[in-house]
Amino acid sequence: MSVLSDVHEGDIVSSYIKKQKNYDIAVIGGGIAGISAALSAARLGKKVVLAESSYILGGLATSGLVTIYLPLCDGLGRQVSFGIAEELLKLSISYGSEGDYPSAWLNSDECNVSVRKNSRYLTRFNPHVFAILCEKLLLENGVEIIFGAKISELKKNSDRDTVLSVSLLTNTDAYEIIADSFIDCTGDASVFYLFGAETVLPEHKNADAAWYYEVKEGEFKLKQIGNCSYIYSTSEYHGISGLDSEENTLEVISSHARIIDDFLKNGKVSQNHAIATLPTIPQIRMSRMIKGVCRINKNDDKKYVQSSVGMFSSWLEKGPVFELPIESLYCSSIKNLCTAGRSISVEGDDMWDITRVIPVCAVSGEAAGVLAAVSSDFKIADLKGIQNILTGRGVKLHLSDITNF
Ligand SMILES: Cc1cc2nc3c(=O)[nH]c(=O)nc-3n(C[C@H](O)[C@H](O)[C@H](O)COP(=O)(O)OP(=O)(O)OC[C@H]3O[C@@H](n4cnc5c(N)ncnc54)[C@H](O)[C@@H]3O)c2cc1C
Repeated sequence: MSVLSDVHEGDIVSSYIKKQKNYDIAVIGGGIAGISAALSAARLGKKVVLAESSYILGGLATSGLVTIYLPLCDGLGRQVSFGIAEELLKLSISYGSEGDYPSAWLNSDECNVSVRKNSRYLTRFNPHVFAILCEKLLLENGVEIIFGAKISELKKNSDRDTVLSVSLLTNTDAYEIIADSFIDCTGDASVFYLFGAETVLPEHKNADAAWYYEVKEGEFKLKQIGNCSYIYSTSEYHGISGLDSEENTLEVISSHARIIDDFLKNGKVSQNHAIATLPTIPQIRMSRMIKGVCRINKNDDKKYVQSSVGMFSSWLEKGPVFELPIESLYCSSIKNLCTAGRSISVEGDDMWDITRVIPVCAVSGEAAGVLAAVSSDFKIADLKGIQNILTGRGVKLHLSDITNF
């Protein structure tokens, strides 16, 4: 008798054997938010794993060729974002910058307010160098990285309020990652979505972007093809959600067409002219965010937030400064899952546009790392303890803490 006699059409007859691994904290997604969260938690002595679906850290900032580290300052001479946000900015240019070196902020002889008022604390970095430096930094801090790993399943407890484990699939293996706390840094709130938590979509779809690097007569240059805004301004294009793989594929193919057209405007391929780098992930600004316990909006500019875990400015204009409430990192229905990066909870696309950028992803990442390290029931986490850890690292929580103005 055949051993397959009990198998019916459509049955699963083979699958990977899952390797079980245990950690204190599992971070899913290795963009700027994931890097910051993993580093932050590891520095508190936690056993941290970072699962990244590609084979390079940095997400949009490196694989997506978004190589402008937007400002840590408010445009009026005040630095507002500190801690890992500043550390990563400095790391990104530690082997040289691609322009916009923030000398007024980094050279002591230029460090005075009047100079800083005219020069924002931002930089342009090389994506490949930065990705390698981030990887080295995480390894030095004891973070275990699993590349090529995409989350495929999630297990909840019987009360359906806690994540017990996530399953990861690579080309060669399957893992069940068991952890006390989980941090969703996928950019798309994918872990929350998989859990079945309420999530929020942007009101507007994403505008096209086709950023690439060109080498021309010895110059290696970022070409920013596409709309600067998150909203597409012409009627013939309807934008993409970022959550539909067929649509993403069409968008990527169309961006390739725009890139080759743009490239050929400067002549054909030669030793002096080439496409140096293409983005290897879709350039999506906003796709899905969590519906957190708190959602700040643009009117919260300069508002005192008692539960602040860091501050950030607006990259779009000089002046606005926001304090980030810890409650924007988690939702009311799940105890031990939080988020960081472009999926934190805010109100309105205009606020989302402010919070989705690199420095804010680092600020929320550092805070999420501390939150996940000190508690696995976030609603009752020791806020004062979390704030003390952050301020001990040099993070400023409130506008009133800033004296250099
Ligand atoms: C066209 C464009 C221009 C921009 N311009 C700027 C700019 O000039 N300056 C600036 O500061 N910001 C800019 N931004 C925004 C900024 O780059 C990103 O929002 C920010 O880098 C997001 O970081 P993140 O870590 O939250 O998410 P991401 O960078 O999206 O990282 C998410 C990571 O998670 C991984 N991942 C996703 N799903 C899974 C899964 N299921 N399992 C495992 N891993 C997963 C991804 O591979 C990725 O590495 C721009 C964005 C775009 C699209």
